[in-house]
Amino acid sequence: MIKFIKKYNRIIVLWILIILIITTLLVNHSFLTIQSSAILNTPYIWDEIKTEKKDFIKWIDFNVSYDALNDSYKLDVNSFESSFHYNWIELLACLACKYGGNFKKYSKKDLTSISNQIKEAGGVKEITKNMKYYNYYYEAYSAILGEFLGVREDETYGMKVFLPIAKNYSFSHYKDFGTSRSYGFKRTHLGNDLMGSIGTPIIAVESGTIFHLGWNQYGGWRIGIRSFDGKRYYYYAHLRKDHPYVPNLEEGMTVNAGDVIGYLGMTGYSIKENVNNINVPHLHFGMQIIFDESQVEGNGEIWIDVYNIVEFLKKNRSSVYMSNSETKDYSRAN
Ligand SMILES: [Zn+2]
Repeated sequence: MIKFIKKYNRIIVLWILIILIITTLLVNHSFLTIQSSAILNTPYIWDEIKTEKKDFIKWIDFNVSYDALNDSYKLDVNSFESSFHYNWIELLACLACKYGGNFKKYSKKDLTSISNQIKEAGGVKEITKNMKYYNYYYEAYSAILGEFLGVREDETYGMKVFLPIAKNYSFSHYKDFGTSRSYGFKRTHLGNDLMGSIGTPIIAVESGTIFHLGWNQYGGWRIGIRSFDGKRYYYYAHLRKDHPYVPNLEEGMTVNAGDVIGYLGMTGYSIKENVNNINVPHLHFGMQIIFDESQVEGNGEIWIDVYNIVEFLKKNRSSVYMSNSETKDYSRAN
């Protein structure tokens, strides 16, 4: 009998504990909801913030072909002053929906057909409402190409970004994104190597803020520049030994698209600073896309294949001249 009561008591205590835990959880939750609603005057804002944070784009497989970039760019720029101005990013996002993101299927006929539909409808809204992934592609391509076109300093409309290699300096490159690299740990190549001569002036592709400047074990002397909207991080690495940068650059400074920032070299692959451990002189050029600060560093980083972008940037090259014969530094010519 005593044994039975003991056992019975234990069950009651257990039940009281469970009820207490559940009540505490419930009270806490409603308190938080009420509190945040009271402060921000929006019901359940707490939950909204939580879901909003999860909603950013996590991955982009950028394979828009050079022809698709070039043809849609021409439609956009040539229609700037006409009655209907095409937006090249909208055109590319429509094409991506048609191809399931695979631009190997690109044909100019498709672009012509889509652009005609958009013009007839007076905009993309109607024709894209049944395209399931339109918003994804539009947002992804806007993050990559959003500042490539626009009104420039001379008030004309066109390309605002530049090739990272100065005008009249030759270079070569091939499709090397994702190939394996052996220095350090096993990893893949997250950029495009532009082979050229040591000392070739390196140009800032887009305006932005210098985030990283100095030595890095892998990149050697490198510069990392983040666009003003924070969405693009441009990485220029393996700059010249002894004289990697133009004078007076500092982290936190802003640079303008088209400005000379440094010189091509072969530094890197060394813990020790200022060491030439790269076999072939080249600029490593990389482009990282950031939708959320959690993607700045670590497993969430999104690096895109820039080979076709580099081909596209050949349309706009910055002219330079030797502006200091003592230090042999270069500046942009215009
Ligand atoms: Zn590289």
